[in-house]
Amino acid sequence: MSPEEFRVFGRQVVDWIADYHAGIESHPVRSQVRPGEVRAQLPAHPPERGEPFEEVLRDLDEVLLPGVTHWQHPSFFAYFPANASGPAILGDLLSSGLGVQGMVWATSPACTELETVVVDWMAELLGLPEHFRTDAAGGGVIQDSASSAALVACLAALQRVSGGDVAAKGITRRHTLYVSEHTHSSLERAARMVGIGADNVRVVAVDPGTLGMDPQHLDDLIAEDLAAGAVPTLVCATVGTTSTTAIDPVRAVGEVCRRRGVWLHVDAAYAGVAAICPELRWINDGVGEFADSYCTNAHKWLLTNFDCSLLWLADRGPLVDALSILPEYLRNPATLSGEVIDYRDWQVPLGRRFRALKLWSVLRWYGASGLREHIRTGVGLAQEFADWVREDPRFELLEPHPLGLVCFRPRFPELSPEQAEERTHEVMESLNASGELYLTHTKVDGRTVLRFAVGSPQTERRHVLAAWKRIQEAVG
Ligand SMILES: *Cc1c(COP(=O)(O)O)cnc(C)c1O
Repeated sequence: MSPEEFRVFGRQVVDWIADYHAGIESHPVRSQVRPGEVRAQLPAHPPERGEPFEEVLRDLDEVLLPGVTHWQHPSFFAYFPANASGPAILGDLLSSGLGVQGMVWATSPACTELETVVVDWMAELLGLPEHFRTDAAGGGVIQDSASSAALVACLAALQRVSGGDVAAKGITRRHTLYVSEHTHSSLERAARMVGIGADNVRVVAVDPGTLGMDPQHLDDLIAEDLAAGAVPTLVCATVGTTSTTAIDPVRAVGEVCRRRGVWLHVDAAYAGVAAICPELRWINDGVGEFADSYCTNAHKWLLTNFDCSLLWLADRGPLVDALSILPEYLRNPATLSGEVIDYRDWQVPLGRRFRALKLWSVLRWYGASGLREHIRTGVGLAQEFADWVREDPRFELLEPHPLGLVCFRPRFPELSPEQAEERTHEVMESLNASGELYLTHTKVDGRTVLRFAVGSPQTERRHVLAAWKRIQEAVG
């Protein structure tokens, strides 16, 4: 494709995206296709000769679009938001256009240095501690996902607790990792991947009221494991669990970790970005004093399309030591001088995209004030929705709900618990099948609750109100 052809089709693609966003409400929120339906419409074999780009766009409209769930739809209330935005899309396009591989500083100095600036900016905006800044012992890095961030945090923790032995010899002792039942599954996957093993993931009890981790039980488990000769290696505290946005008591958990010499990873994948609003900064209480690593996703609620997960370390040393290898083909004077950062040593893959461009575009376009307004709008709408649920006796509201997620349950007092479970799932499926809104569920204390997550920049009060009316009707 020549630059002139690219110009023509590039304009068509940008127009396509603009039209898509402008007309997004004409689509059912959740894709209504059956398994295999998209694939059956696509050729079984790749084309032998090149085809005009118009054909690609036509298939996008006719074949693929029905199989798309519209995450940017203003009535998308499922999972957590995965915001896209104009500046983020354009930043991503520029990153693709440059086609840079930023594995080490020398392969594109701007890719590394802009990332450093952007993660330091974000640390400042979120009120994170000075030692997370690049000029101090720590530093931040953009990962593809919070799952990768958890994985490298485990590697760093193993490095620190073993004095480097794990990187050299592999795991030779029994290492243990601590989560609660509400911790994201990526932590157990990380434990499997680094060789700690799922059987050595200890599940700490939670306070039944807050669903936050019980620090006393954590301490008891660590003591038990030490007595049995294991090496307690990492505790994950969550700020805003995926299930219900419960917040673990990071400070009290951190005090246990500090006393026991265990790495504290704080997973704030969804909620952490809310700290851009000073009135919500309390969610990170204890992070500054106690976290060895801290992760939040710009790619959920902060208007930056996937992938853009931010990981900070209080001390980058163990991570870099765990992952740094310098083969001859990567040797270069800048790396050898020690004056530059090579972010390949902070992540699993060697190669890396110029991801900082999209976050930089977002930060410059909206400014801190625009981002705060976005978060506040989502929180405000969610609180209003919670008020409606609380006032309707047919529903039970799960408290607290300080951010953009509200969990609730229809009561069905005339039904048995099993029948009520079944009815709740039927209600949810009927709503989602209508295409008018999309919401998902979780389980709390063995009972299904519906999750209503507000956070799209397109969502207005009228969308939340319409969804609430539909939910009321579905319950009858
Ligand atoms: C979404 C989520 C994750 C996983 O995020 P990815 O970036 O998709 O890996 C991890 N932890 C929590 C608390 C989450 O909400």
